[in-house]
Amino acid sequence: MLSLVVPIFGPPAAGKTTLTLQLSRAPGRRIFRLREHVPQETLAATASSPEQLGWIDDFTVGNAVRRYFADITTEPDVHTVLLDNFPGSGIQVGQLMAAIETLFPVPHVEAVEVITDARTLRQRARNRKVCHHCERDPIHDPRLPATATAVDPWTCAGCGGLLHPRRGDSPRLFKARLQRYHRSAEEIRACLAAAEIPLSQLDTTNTIDGAAELLAPLLISRSPAQ
Ligand SMILES: [Zn+2]
Repeated sequence: MLSLVVPIFGPPAAGKTTLTLQLSRAPGRRIFRLREHVPQETLAATASSPEQLGWIDDFTVGNAVRRYFADITTEPDVHTVLLDNFPGSGIQVGQLMAAIETLFPVPHVEAVEVITDARTLRQRARNRKVCHHCERDPIHDPRLPATATAVDPWTCAGCGGLLHPRRGDSPRLFKARLQRYHRSAEEIRACLAAAEIPLSQLDTTNTIDGAAELLAPLLISRSPAQ
């Protein structure tokens, strides 16, 4: 039964996806990524304009979140949902809470903001790569961090194909995404506080693995007896 929901937000390239992937290895945990639950046409529309930066309209987000939580509660083995890069705005905090409050019993919500210094962010954005072959993104904009072979940083360890930089990591788009994050983060924190959701900050500057270990006790103490 779903008992814990962990919204994870933070600047681009702070390590949110890597962190959620690591934490999701334990049984009973799932990752929610918004773009996997919105129609392909909607994603395609956000990709056509660089200024939108993948922004998805509130109506679509509200529906996607509500449907996701209604479905996940029918899976008896799932006790924890980690939200990778969600909420992205104050409105989305409200949409999340509206979806969760209809569930019975209402799961506990515990938010995490991933923080890293500006230098590390730029460095990670420069170095990270994606694989178009291993991650079949519906609009050909893969996001998941790919692992390179030991001998060649541009060869995918998964399929042997060529790795690419992430589209949104180009210097111009990255700067715009970082600015958007700084504008929305304050609003997200305020809305979480208004909803009385505890928020911890997690520093991933040194290692993302180490940060995942710091977060592990919180997930265990909040999940059902094991
Ligand atoms: Zn690959």
